[in-house]
Amino acid sequence: MSDSPILNSSRIIKEEYKDVVEKTADAILSSFDDKSAFSGINPYVLRKQICDLGLIDEKGLGFEKTLEITKKEIMPHLLRTWSTSYMPHLHSPATLESIAAELIIATFNNSMDSWDQSPAATEVEVSVIKNLAGLFGYDENADGCFTSGGSQSNFSAITAIRDAFLKKNFKQDVKKHGLIPDFNKLRLYTSEISHFSMEKSCHMLGLGYDAVVKLPVDEKCRIDNEKFEKIVKDDIESGLIPFCAVATIGTTDFGSIDDVVKMRKICDKYSMYLHADAAYGSGLVLSHKYSEKIKDLNLCDSITVDFHKMFLLPISCSAILVKDGSMLDCFELHADYLNREEDEEDGYINLVGKSMQTTRRFDALKVFMAFKSRGFEGFSKIIDTAVENASYFYSKLKDDKAFQAPVEPEISSVVFRLDTSDTNNKKVRRSLLEKGTVIGQTVMNGKVMLKFTLLNPNLTHDQIDALIDLIKKESEMV
Ligand SMILES: *Cc1c(COP(=O)(O)O)cnc(C)c1O
Repeated sequence: MSDSPILNSSRIIKEEYKDVVEKTADAILSSFDDKSAFSGINPYVLRKQICDLGLIDEKGLGFEKTLEITKKEIMPHLLRTWSTSYMPHLHSPATLESIAAELIIATFNNSMDSWDQSPAATEVEVSVIKNLAGLFGYDENADGCFTSGGSQSNFSAITAIRDAFLKKNFKQDVKKHGLIPDFNKLRLYTSEISHFSMEKSCHMLGLGYDAVVKLPVDEKCRIDNEKFEKIVKDDIESGLIPFCAVATIGTTDFGSIDDVVKMRKICDKYSMYLHADAAYGSGLVLSHKYSEKIKDLNLCDSITVDFHKMFLLPISCSAILVKDGSMLDCFELHADYLNREEDEEDGYINLVGKSMQTTRRFDALKVFMAFKSRGFEGFSKIIDTAVENASYFYSKLKDDKAFQAPVEPEISSVVFRLDTSDTNNKKVRRSLLEKGTVIGQTVMNGKVMLKFTLLNPNLTHDQIDALIDLIKKESEMV
């Protein structure tokens, strides 16, 4: 490797770039030789092995030696997200074209804060956002921004909603003057099984966990809207200030989808904003068969979309969409060194004005390249397979006396338990992990549950049958 580590137009450096990319690909492809998702190594053994590698010495080892160490000591114990034995979380394998996009993103290293740091990248993000807004049924008044993930998308949405609500109802400019004196009366309503980023967001927004009202769910794990309305009414009577409801479009454990039509009516009646946390369920938008399930999302004031879940793009890749683009003004602030107003008047878009981040990745390219590559047809196949695999899994568990499976899957997650003790269920999961098969675990009505979150389109019905047998066998052994 030459002394200059930076790409330029010289032929030698270009050859070196190719060599680095090829050697890295070879190392990745030869770092594993089995079909399991994980080596099963003990955490203490792994910790020592990694610790012993140290970090920096006076003299560097050079790229090849370092790659060799990474290949030998680290890569074999990385999780292989592409394995069909990996199914615990909303954590997907990455499609090949989106891995290619990551290489372009890293190589050009554009930053999305200002046009002069990301000319074509800014225009791609603007166009991708406009197209996404259309896909979810918003009109040209909509806008949005890429974020680091569903948590940041939710945080951005709730920030924008808090500010818009207080401006509209209390004439309070939160951006300049902070919260109203009665800030601790503000309330956000969401399902008892919603994502914990609701609490985290309310904490960071100065409202505290107390601001989050957890609504009971029905037998299909969706918000019970009669109870929702009654709780809001009671809260208003006791002097609280409801400002926002959050519908979960695909709960993290069950994939259940809240009824946004009913929630919109209640929100309108009590002058509240409605956000859709569709981090999981947004993937259905590209399914010919199942997009129906999320067809009313445009009734919501904002939508969280995660591309690193059902869409199978590399982490991180998420967007917040807002129905009224001006809601993102809450993030706008001008700095002489970055996003001058005079540039914006001349057509240079500085996306930093829509984001809580400053330096920001060009993640929109992954969406552009993946959507262009596969089309509706390609994505529909991927998403339909996940949904139908979950349905097959559920039907097998339902028919088997060894299991309980209380909730029919709405998207691609199956929550179930062996009809034994909590301890046995926990042990089975741990024992499978040690053997390289990774499944999920959660709690429902106080009982330990196991969970499959199916995103990998390569999973076959035969593999599902084999996995069910494996779980039963483990249950007898542990
Ligand atoms: C995954 C998830 C989130 C959080 O998204 P990250 O990308 O992990 O930050 C939020 N809400 C729901 C419903 C999720 O499933």
